[in-house]
Amino acid sequence: MIVVLLGPPGAGKGTQGERIAAALGVPKIATGDVLRAAVKDGTKLGLEAKAFMDRGDLVPDAVILGIMKEALAQPAQAKGVILDGVVRTVPQAEGLAKVTKELGRKVDVVLVFDIADDLLVERLSGRTTCDREQKPFTGLKPGDPCPNKCGGTLVRRQDDEPEAIRNRLRVYQAQTAPVLDWYMGQGANVVRIDAAGSFDDVTKRALATVGR
Ligand SMILES: [Zn+2]
Repeated sequence: MIVVLLGPPGAGKGTQGERIAAALGVPKIATGDVLRAAVKDGTKLGLEAKAFMDRGDLVPDAVILGIMKEALAQPAQAKGVILDGVVRTVPQAEGLAKVTKELGRKVDVVLVFDIADDLLVERLSGRTTCDREQKPFTGLKPGDPCPNKCGGTLVRRQDDEPEAIRNRLRVYQAQTAPVLDWYMGQGANVVRIDAAGSFDDVTKRALATVGR
């Protein structure tokens, strides 16, 4: 079973993805992890990707898809895989469809984490970061001393200002709506779940969509 996760920043998609993967006994892979592993292993495509990264360029979709195909062909992923952050745009969805087809597989479920923008703004703007260690914290105020007693002070990153968050959410919506339309046009199983509420409740809803 191949599951593609989609969700706005702050919806808890990464954590939920790990929980779903653990419950199904399959790996969760994210583009960044797969890319780093290929570079570390020094595969042909990994070295190609590294050349782009060393020049400070974005690694092209075609190289990423090649690396993704090699990852999906690994025996560990035969039973299934949870893909986190792999599909953000329509060309990426098309590329993934091509790669899975070549492997005789397909995306079985597109799981979308839905949550109201206001709630995300509240969640994300409640985050502070230690100005020394760059570690994020929740439930504390900007100006508080770092709870790790490292001597740092908690600050709110520019990215976590409400206006910056709303902007990221607008970008997400603008990119994701066409991706969902594309999957629905392909007759894919697109399931939206309510991502508000406790982590456990959201995990239950997510697992129900994959038959658990
Ligand atoms: Zn600190």
